[in-house]
Amino acid sequence: MAVKRERSTWLKGPKPPCKDKPAAQKRPYRLILLGAPGVGKGTQAEFLVGRLGACHLSTGDIFRAAKSLPDCERTPAIEEALAHMKRGELVPDETVVSLVRERVDCMTCQGGFLLDGFPRTVAQAEALEDILKSQKVKLDAVLNYELPIERVVERIGGRRTCPKCKAVFHVTNMPPKKAGICDHCGAELFQREDDRPESVRVRMEAYARSTAPLTDYYGKKGLLISISADAAPDRVFERTMKLLPS
Ligand code: AMP
Repeated sequence: MAVKRERSTWLKGPKPPCKDKPAAQKRPYRLILLGAPGVGKGTQAEFLVGRLGACHLSTGDIFRAAKSLPDCERTPAIEEALAHMKRGELVPDETVVSLVRERVDCMTCQGGFLLDGFPRTVAQAEALEDILKSQKVKLDAVLNYELPIERVVERIGGRRTCPKCKAVFHVTNMPPKKAGICDHCGAELFQREDDRPESVRVRMEAYARSTAPLTDYYGKKGLLISISADAAPDRVFERTMKLLPS
């Protein structure tokens, strides 16, 4: 049974309190999920949330939530971040780190966390290390999902997202019961702007240049766990659970 978390604090910033304060977990997990766009990190995060009780904290979700803000509530930094995102480029480190810093309560939460999409550069990883150190919080592991590039391209091309409940489908691998309609809330599915071919190419380049070096960074710290993502999502989840530190 999936645990549904209220993530208003994570999505909106430090002000709104987390309405559904997660219960303390016997074993709170503090994990980072790594992997190229399209490897299925988001789906694994949802499974992990249900099993471990931790919150799924995605920086991409913060930017997507910011897109629906009225113009008067968008700061210049957010406008700039959205322009980068639309082109499939990484948002500048300072902007992302300051957004994460504002949400430090989510990282000290007794329920644990799954960071998805952050850090994406070594500079962000160093900033995260400082934040966690100052809060006396330790990472348990960095899960690195691996998939051959041609499978990544196929997965992203067919991905469809629900604008309302954020569920993710795939036109052939995980189709909704009714074509183009979300199984969970009935909203019309759409293709994310940055899932279109021209943006995907830029995102893959950004990943290879900036994010792939993080595997070395966390490997040297003894935190990296590599997992093949070339299987059905439930099979990948089984592999993940077997490899998690106890
Ligand atoms: P995602 O949903 O994680 O694939 O993120 C979607 C987009 O948001 C990325 O292509 C980037 O433009 C931006 N983004 C999300 N997280 C970060 C990050 N940690 N650093 C830089 N850009 C990010």
